[in-house]
Amino acid sequence: MKRRIKVGLLEKKACGGCFERLKETAVSNELLDNIEFLDIIKGDEKADFVLVQGGVLSSSQKKLLEKISRAKKKLILFGSCAIDPNFILGIKNIRSAGEIGSVFSSICGCPPSNDEIGELLKSLILSKTIPKISWPVCNECSENEIKCLLLKGEECDGPNTLGGCEVLCPKYDKSCKGCRTRLEKKEIR
Ligand code: SF4
Ligand code: SF4
Ligand code: SF4
Repeated sequence: MKRRIKVGLLEKKACGGCFERLKETAVSNELLDNIEFLDIIKGDEKADFVLVQGGVLSSSQKKLLEKISRAKKKLILFGSCAIDPNFILGIKNIRSAGEIGSVFSSICGCPPSNDEIGELLKSLILSKTIPKISWPVCNECSENEIKCLLLKGEECDGPNTLGGCEVLCPKYDKSCKGCRTRLEKKEIR
């Protein structure tokens, strides 16, 4: 039988879209029998895992993350702007929680898909990490026989961007804007 886990939600500077998607996924996957979601306010809650949405701007946010990290909570960077807030949110002097505490797992996407979130939640119930993505968006274009936009003289950030979105934009003849974070950020997953 699967165990019941406590997952803390820590919201930093972000649009909030990732946690909205998270709640939707948890309900639609009927995972609420196994997961209790907690709001992390002081960092001392009884969470097994802490999902971080967004980037760290203030010194109080940094202190809270340090406290969570000292308490050996398992940090999950949840969504692209938690992994690379500077690039995704376009804000200077903003930091990823991954630069402050040790990261157990992470999930990119702006926001991540329901399937990706479902996979993450199920892995947390089993106390496992999810497989890392290490390939660019371009790989999925090849697999899906999508004609490259660069060959048509258009711009596309696919070569520099982590895949896993099933070429959501090139599939509809739209350029990749890099919303799943830079390939070189993969070391914090
Ligand atoms: S990753 Fe995108 S959708 Fe998620 S909180 Fe950040 S800006 Fe919003
Ligand atoms: S369309 Fe963009 S993502 Fe697809 S192969 Fe070309 S550069 Fe890569
Ligand atoms: S193609 Fe690029 S911009 Fe579009 S969803 Fe995928 S990573 Fe994001």
